[in-house]
Amino acid sequence: MMTEIMRYCPTCGSAHIQFSELVGTEASCNTCNWKGLKEELYDVPFSHSFRGKEGLSDEFANEVRRLMENQDFAVSFIKFLVRWGFITSTEKATLVAEAAKYMSSAARAIANAVVAVRANTEKEKVNEPAAPRQ
Ligand SMILES: [Zn+2]
Repeated sequence: MMTEIMRYCPTCGSAHIQFSELVGTEASCNTCNWKGLKEELYDVPFSHSFRGKEGLSDEFANEVRRLMENQDFAVSFIKFLVRWGFITSTEKATLVAEAAKYMSSAARAIANAVVAVRANTEKEKVNEPAAPRQ
């Protein structure tokens, strides 16, 4: 197993961030345009058996994607996208291709949200005031 520190945007939870490993340097988010210091990013340690951070992040999102491929969910999700006007094609191959794009993106967003909740929880723990001494 390897342990990596995954870093996420403190504003939107996105993993699409830019930073340098140097302390006190600037970091920014490609998703919400947040800018700040590297130290403000959410750090989440992960133990895993995947190669590199990208592999881990992709594998995490891919697993959510596989959960979403559940027949009942997939059909309901496509109906939902059609009903709200996100998918307008009636041609099956195009409809499936469009749905697949939304599914991948939604899976990535769910994965990011899960990690952001974890990061927030970690941060709350760190920021909790120490219990007063008796
Ligand atoms: Zn962001």
